Parts: sequence; C-alpha cells; structure tokens
Amino acid sequence: MFIEYDTFRQRADALMLRIAECCRAVGRSPNEVTLLPVTKTHPVAAAEYAIRYGLTAVGENRVQEAMQKIIGVAPALRWELIGHLQSNKAKLAATHFARIQSVDSEKLLAALNRAAGELGKKLPVLLQINAGHDPAKFGIEPADAPRLLECAMAQTHLQVDGLMTVAPLADDADIARRTFANLRIIRDELATRFGTPLRELSMGMSGDLASAIAEGSTVVRVGSALYGPRE
Ligand SMILES: *Cc1c(COP(=O)(O)O)cnc(C)c1O
Repeated sequence: MFIEYDTFRQRADALMLRIAECCRAVGRSPNEVTLLPVTKTHPVAAAEYAIRYGLTAVGENRVQEAMQKIIGVAPALRWELIGHLQSNKAKLAATHFARIQSVDSEKLLAALNRAAGELGKKLPVLLQINAGHDPAKFGIEPADAPRLLECAMAQTHLQVDGLMTVAPLADDADIARRTFANLRIIRDELATRFGTPLRELSMGMSGDLASAIAEGSTVVRVGSALYGPRE
C-alpha cells in the first residue's frame, strides 16, 4: 500500500523546514534550493501528491517507467530525467522531459540536440559529473568535463543549465561532502573558463542533502524521505 497524502504532506513540510535550516546554517537563502521529488518505483499518485503540495517538477530515472506517469498527469508538471539515458531513447526523452540532468557523453549530446531540433525546441540539460570518482556511478570523469561542456555549448538546440552528481554510496559522510565540494569547484572552474554561469548544481539526496546544501546545491533530489523505501 502506497502512503496517504497526509503522510506525504507531513514529510514534505518537515523536509522543507530541514532544507531551510540547512540553508540558514551556512548563510544561504532557502529559496536558492529547489526540492525535486523523485517518484521512481512509486505509483502515479506520488506525482499527484507533489502537484497537490504545490511542487512543480518531479524527477524520474528511467524513461520507460516515467512514460505512463507522464501521460497520466503530464500537463501539470515538469518532468526531469535524472537517470542514465541511452542515445537510442534520446528522442523519447527530449519529447517528454522538460530537462535531462544525466547527460554524460558527446554521443548523447548529439542525439539530444538532433531530437530537440526536430521538435523545434531548446532543451535544458545538466552534465552529469562523476565527482566522487566512483566506478559504480555514471557520469563523466572530471578531467573530461571541459571537453563535454565545450561540445554541449556548441549544440544549438541544447541549453546547459549546470552540473549534476551522485555521491558514492558510503558510510563515511565525508565522502559525500568531498564529492559535492568537488562538483562546486569543477563548476566554478568551468564557469570561469567558458564564460557561462552553470547556475544549477543538482546534488544531494535523502541521506546527504545537508552536506550538499552546505556545498552549494541548488537542487536536491529526494525520493525515500518523501515516499518511503522503494519497492
Ligand atoms: C533515486 C534517486 C534519487 C533519490 O534517492 P533517495 O535516496 O531515495 O532520496 C536521487 N538521485 C538519483 C539520480 C536517483 O536515482
């Protein structure tokens, strides 16, 4: 049985407070950080709860799984893709998602650009960086990030909003914090070198959002703290 809306509302209230506290603790304004609820593995009700609560975007990590939910409640929400995307699904993703956070290759950039061009739109993207050097994670290695950004900026139908990372799974909270600090440093260097703000830093999930906010996150992607454990 999926949670009731009241449970969601209480968790979302608590989470908004926590995000605000994390911001205040480091002298940031709470409206610098957006909560992106992650509905993967949960029913379409998860997205409906987000709408009812007044949230405007949700994250999904697989195109195929998201499709049924997007069709169910499409017009009211911005869907963001946060999971690995294969080039052969670029057209489907570009059609149905408002932003792709998980771009990690030149091949995918080219496929998304072509698809966005065919759709006559400018598609916002984030570049996924493996800022924690975790072999188990997707994302481009930091050393290759300048080349990927250069390629991304040359795509006329894409708009690069910033960077995204997923911290390595580890018991040591310092590892996540170092990963997030690293992403911010990478962003600052790229922004200076390429003269583009790369404003968005998508980092932090249920278990590590405090350190992500401390290191400058602008989007926290939260699943289990809102919806409970995944099925
Ligand atoms: C599932 C997922 C999340 C949310 O994880 P929780 O720990 O449940 O908050 C965030 N980001 C990505 C890329 C995910 O796949």
